[in-house]
Amino acid sequence: MNALIEAQEVPHYVVGGGPAGLTAALELTEAGHRVDVVEAGELVGGIARTEQYKGYRFDIGGHRFFTKVGEVDALWKRLMGKDFILVPRLSRIYYGGKYYAYPLKIGNTLTNLGAVESVRIGFSYLGSRIRPIRQEDTLDQWVSNRFGKRLFETFFKTYTEKVWGIPCTSIQADWAAQRIQNLSLMKAVKAAIFGDKDTTSLIEEFQYPRLGPGMMWERVRDLLRDMGSTVRMQTRCDAVHHDGAGRVLSVSECDAEGNVIQREVASLVNTMPLGRLVRALDPPAPDAVLAAASRLKYRDFLIVAVIVDEPDPFPDNWIYIHSPEVQVGRIQNFRSWSAEMVPDENRSCIGLEYFCHTGDGLWSASDAELIEQAKRELEVLGLVSPDNVVDGTVIRQPKAYPVYDENYKEAVDTIREYIETFDNLYSVGRNGMHRYNNQDHSMLTAMLAARNLMGESHDVWNVNVERSYHEEFVTSEKTTSSDAVEPTTLHDVAREAVTESEPSSQGVASGVSSSASPDGTVQETRPASRERALENA
Ligand SMILES: Cc1cc2nc3c(=O)[nH]c(=O)nc-3n(C[C@H](O)[C@H](O)[C@H](O)COP(=O)(O)OP(=O)(O)OC[C@H]3O[C@@H](n4cnc5c(N)ncnc54)[C@H](O)[C@@H]3O)c2cc1C
Repeated sequence: MNALIEAQEVPHYVVGGGPAGLTAALELTEAGHRVDVVEAGELVGGIARTEQYKGYRFDIGGHRFFTKVGEVDALWKRLMGKDFILVPRLSRIYYGGKYYAYPLKIGNTLTNLGAVESVRIGFSYLGSRIRPIRQEDTLDQWVSNRFGKRLFETFFKTYTEKVWGIPCTSIQADWAAQRIQNLSLMKAVKAAIFGDKDTTSLIEEFQYPRLGPGMMWERVRDLLRDMGSTVRMQTRCDAVHHDGAGRVLSVSECDAEGNVIQREVASLVNTMPLGRLVRALDPPAPDAVLAAASRLKYRDFLIVAVIVDEPDPFPDNWIYIHSPEVQVGRIQNFRSWSAEMVPDENRSCIGLEYFCHTGDGLWSASDAELIEQAKRELEVLGLVSPDNVVDGTVIRQPKAYPVYDENYKEAVDTIREYIETFDNLYSVGRNGMHRYNNQDHSMLTAMLAARNLMGESHDVWNVNVERSYHEEFVTSEKTTSSDAVEPTTLHDVAREAVTESEPSSQGVASGVSSSASPDGTVQETRPASRERALENA
């Protein structure tokens, strides 16, 4: 009996009300199946939720919507309709006391770096071409080979280490290869000087739900309920019971009051962190799989959202902060994402993003201390006077980034091999696969898992392995309108890395941008890009 027939009596079960979980549930529900979704938190959307404080809305980091996956883009548009707005983008990089335009402008970058440093960077790059490091095991080796050691040290190293909290020598080259393949200094410089039609149009605007990404996920939650599926909030799946022969039979879940209920399920689509899934299995997974689960590491994240008594303290959507003298990694201006995120037209909501580890000094600091730190750092950066900060709040996000250290790959492979012995269990999404997926690839893995449960056969683990991400490309790969979008330039690399703030990627990316592509000019005004092509369309 296949899962499709069983589902008529027993619901499919989805762990997690983030983008992946809700997408899997939507796919199954729209095909006529009943699905139970459980979400441990108070909001749907997972890391892509929209938080609110006194009417001010903000993301866990800024979440742009961009994708090369036609199906995902079509779904986004179907879900949001007119509520999907097109946002002009302006972002800069702050490094060494200077703001670098981002996307880079060659003149600005060279001016900021100065002639001597620019020449040094050029020679270092030539050196890396003549005598590349033969074996590229780690991020520093990978980046130095493509951009030169000096550029790596000037731009990539500080930011990357700020984001990931570990030395670049401990970050695997894999990560860079997955995120920024095809990128080279020459391509980046060329794009910066001559531009690139395909690229330029893509990087100046992005799509965004007018009330933030959570708006999309609240809509999916409501659709699911309207169609007869269930979304239970503040309910945590704690145990996954199986028959020991590759079939999940039931789950145990715990609601907000602490009541534990065991439920029979037709299948299980998981988006909780992969290691947690392994530990939830009953009977327990083999020792080697449990050991692999304990080797998976994460980088955590917090955002300090401050309310500022001025409407527009700076024009950017976000600014990457490479400089090591402050701890903040990226700063968001949420009015620039959507004016409707801010309830008072005379005020703004500025989000300072910090990368940390649960339990470290930043994570453990009180909200009041973090707001004071945010005020100090905004002043150091010359962005906002402390007197103008009138209020603030802090949101902590554990396990924001799956870490690609020297152990992760073998650990994920071991777990994956075991999970694949089940015929009605899929683990998808970002932490569900311990993979650096943005929303689009998180959603695609969920769609494919749902289709597998309905009789199709897709390799869920292959998504976002072979093809690069939008943000990782550098040049003009031609895109079709349905395959749309992702940019491709140095800028994107950098931006994206930072955008996602993936520890490793960010550093790399941003670093690349700033210096690698010596093209920057500080843009003091928001690009007037309404007429430009859609980034993701
Ligand atoms: C700072 C930052 C910026 C980003 N920027 C972008 C961007 O610009 N564009 C973009 O597309 N993507 C971006 N991303 C990535 C995006 O957030 C993720 O791809 C996406 O949220 C992953 O969706 P998911 O459903 O797999 O996982 P999550 O979003 O992690 O959702 C998983 C959900 O499962 C719930 N859960 C966990 N365990 C249990 C349990 N046992 N029982 C019940 N519920 C459980 C969690 O509470 C959570 O709600 C960004 C990520 C970060 C960290």
